[in-house]
Order: sequence, then structure tokens, then C-alpha cells
Amino acid sequence: MSTSVVRGVGLTPEILDRLREIVGAEHVLTTDGDVEPFSRDATPLFRARPDAVVLPATTAEVADVLRLATETGTPVVPRGGGSNLAAGTVAERGGIVLVLTRMTVVQEVSADELLAVVQAGVTTSTLADAASARGLLYPPDPGSRTVSTVGGNVATCAGGLRGLKYGVTRNYVLGLEVVLPTGEVIRTGGRLWKDVAGYDLTRLLTGSEGTLGVITEVTVGLLPMPETSRTGIAYFDSLADAGRAVTAIIAGGTLPATLEFLDRACIGAVEDFAHLGLDRDAGALLLFGDDGSPRDVVESLDRMAAACTANGARGIELATDVAGSEDLLAARRCSLPALSRLAPVTMLEDVTVPRPQIARMVDDIEEIARRHDVVCATFGHAGDGNLHPTIVFDADDHDARRRAEAAFDEVFGRAIALGGTITGEHGVGAAKLPWLAQRLGADQLALLRRVKAAFDPAGILNPGKLGS
Ligand SMILES: Cc1cc2nc3c(=O)[nH]c(=O)nc-3n(C[C@H](O)[C@H](O)[C@H](O)COP(=O)(O)OP(=O)(O)OC[C@H]3O[C@@H](n4cnc5c(N)ncnc54)[C@H](O)[C@@H]3O)c2cc1C
Repeated sequence: MSTSVVRGVGLTPEILDRLREIVGAEHVLTTDGDVEPFSRDATPLFRARPDAVVLPATTAEVADVLRLATETGTPVVPRGGGSNLAAGTVAERGGIVLVLTRMTVVQEVSADELLAVVQAGVTTSTLADAASARGLLYPPDPGSRTVSTVGGNVATCAGGLRGLKYGVTRNYVLGLEVVLPTGEVIRTGGRLWKDVAGYDLTRLLTGSEGTLGVITEVTVGLLPMPETSRTGIAYFDSLADAGRAVTAIIAGGTLPATLEFLDRACIGAVEDFAHLGLDRDAGALLLFGDDGSPRDVVESLDRMAAACTANGARGIELATDVAGSEDLLAARRCSLPALSRLAPVTMLEDVTVPRPQIARMVDDIEEIARRHDVVCATFGHAGDGNLHPTIVFDADDHDARRRAEAAFDEVFGRAIALGGTITGEHGVGAAKLPWLAQRLGADQLALLRRVKAAFDPAGILNPGKLGS
């Protein structure tokens, strides 16, 4: 992992003039002050100044910009809300950052067809609220939902707190409108729940991190809104006990809507931050919850609480209503802001291991952190085996940074050795690129590069990232 401060390639006055003609002069930003917020995303330590920030309002404008970029060999980095945690929007080779946040129309929510059609710049929470207003659920629930865009969620295949029961973004993408780097506009999939005509380009583009095409419109599937939901918290002496409870819950036939964990360090940080009355002496906290009919939810919560008790829970708290459930969920939702207060730099990572390996992976993370003398806390999606080890340190402490990088290097290797992966939901971006070959192997990496070349022959779209 390294800080990337790379000068832009420089855009000629002719290219800038043509960009102004396409989107209007006020939507082409070039001054240091205007461009600075688009030089970074939510990933610490990565930063690079683009030559211009361009904000199109229509698919036709996106197509004109990309045609111009391919013609002139200008790098283009698509960007939604900029909440990326893998430096996916950092314009390491300069050029244009193409920001989709002016494309914010919710075009349709259909209760008959259980789907919605939105422009790519609509935020996740706007889509979820529009669905909810019609009694429908859009399940993907990233913690960044008030700022992340649906286009960015598709491009990263965002996950969230409901992954175990409901899956992630890819499970809800029915169709895409995409502008190819060469300027053609294609529509993949559509309004159909069943459609196997041709290669599944919708799925290929989902998680392609802005390297194959620019997503301008998304058709998502929706579900009927569950009648109610409830959440509980169980405390354990160790993560190994919590891990056993997770196995017992799932083996017992329950597929919880929520199954999240915090380790001891994370419980302490959250309690200092939010004063929720958590048991800070516990070694681990398991947040479990379900949704459905009131009767089913009560039965499900009771079954999960019993599994926790049978596996050594030292305390259990059950919310009695939806508001109480939201209070308990706050413990998980504020993990990142709570840890961010501990030191100026918060490096949040994103490994996934097979579910039975969670406790072992957390033990290994603690051992690696101790050996490298770094402050590390871990929280994550226990149901998905998706862990977010987080190391905090002072920005000026170069040795601490070196130790953090060395620790994560070992963490990624350990995750792969346990049958896991280097990123479960945040993406590869620039930050994880050094570990991609280790995860995929040379043959698969070479295939990725050929796929990239087929979509983007001039190599202009998010160059230096996936497939480059
Ligand atoms: C506090 C916080 C909590 C988070 N919680 C979660 C979580 O629970 N689960 C999770 O999965 N992630 C989470 N994230 C990470 C991040 O929010 C997601 O990756 C999100 O999907 C990014 O959406 P965005 O609109 O901000 O995209 P950006 O950050 O702008 O871009 C992300 C990537 O997608 C590409 N891209 C963006 N828009 C388009 C487009 N229209 N067409 C083509 N490519 C595009 C970019 O080039 C980049 O590679 C969190 C981040 C923060 C800061």
C-alpha cells in the first residue's frame, strides 16, 4: 500500500474546450480548490490530482466524453459518491474524474413488477426510501448508504449488514445501461427475472470497479417489505465462543437477517464513542436479528438467543421493538466512526474467510497485530465470514504506517491461506492491486486483462486498476 501522488497527464486546451461544449463550462472543474475534493475518496493515504472533474447530466453526455477520451487517449475515472475504501476513484494517471452525481432521477418503482429503475447517481438510501414508500425492500445496505450511489454500489458489488439472508448488490441487479469506453451505449439484462440470452454481462459489469464501462442507469429487483424486524446482542468471553454460536445458529436452521460481530477492542471504542451501555469486559459481541412476521421473528430471535446461551454467552439483551433494535444496531453501525476517533489515520480492511474460520482468522489478526506492534480492532459480518480489521495510527508516524502495511500484508496472506479472499465487498481499487495476483493466479489475471482490452481497447477507463 502506498500513497499515490502522481501528476496528471495534462489536458490540452482543445480537449478542455470540447469537454465544456459537451457538459457546459460550469460542469468542468479545473482549479486546485475545485478539484481537490475529487483527488481522494474514503481511502486514507491515497491521493492524486485529476486534470479535470467533469459532471455530465445525461447518458449522451457521458458517451460524448468517453468517445473524446478514447480518441485522445485521456484517462477517465468514473465516480459516484466517492465513499470507496480501496482508492478505486483515485486518478493515479491524472485525466478526467467523471462524476455521476448529477444523474439523480428515480425513474420508476413498480410494485407490480417488484423492481425500480434509477439513474446511476441516485444514493442508496434514496432508492431504499423510494422502495419503502411503496411497501418494498431494497435489501443491500452498505454503511455508507446516505452518500454512496447505486452506480457505485453496482460497480463495487457493495454488501452490507443483510448479506447472509438477502445477498449483496449483484443479487438485485436486473439490468444496466452502460456507456462503453468507445462511446457505444448498451443495455444488459432488463426487467426480466429470467433471461439467459448471451453472456451475463450484467454480472460481469457488477463489481468491475469502473474499468469496463460507465453505468448510467440501473434496474434493480425489490422484495415485499417484511412486516417487522428485531435484534438482540449476545456477549461472549472470546470470539471463539461467538464463532461457535454463529455455527450453531445457522446449523439450527435459522438464516438471520443480521449476524455481526465486534471484538473486544472494537466494543471498547464504540462504548467510548456512543455510550450505549455495552459490556466492555466482554471478549466479543454478537449482534443477531431477523425480520418477517411478528411471530416468526420472535421465534427466530428466541432460537438464536438459545444457541448463544448454549455456546457460552455471558449476557444477552433482546430489543422489544423496532426502535430498540435500531439502538442495538447502532453498536455495529458506529464501529468505523468510533475507531476513527482513536488516531488520525484509520486503515479499514476487508478480508473474507469461510465462516468456520472466522474465530481462527480473528486470533491470527490479533497475533499479527501484536507482533507488528499496531493498534488493531476487528468487526464484521459474522454471517458472511467478512471481517474488517482496522488499524489506527498517527499520520506523521512513518514507522507506524510501515508496521500497519506489513501487518496487513500478513493478514491478506493469512486470509488466502484459510481459503478466503483479499476483499469481500470494498473492491480491489488501487489499494489491493498488489495482492490480486496472489488471489487469482496468473492465468485468471491474464484473462481479466483480455476482457478489459475487449471493452476498453485504448485502456482509458480507470487505468492502472483491475485488468490493467
Ligand atoms: C462509512 C462507510 C461505510 C461503508 N460501508 C460499506 C458496507 O457496509 N458495505 C460495502 O460494500 N461498502 C461499504 N463502504 C464502501 C463504499 O461505500 C462502497 O464501496 C460503495 O458501493 C461505493 O459507492 P460510491 O457511489 O461512493 O462509489 P465511488 O466510491 O465513487 O466509486 C467506487 C468504484 O466504483 C466506480 N464507479 C462509481 N460509479 C460508477 C459508475 N456509475 N459507473 C462505473 N463505475 C463507477 C469507481 O470508479 C470506483 O472504482 C463504506 C464506506 C464508508 C466510507
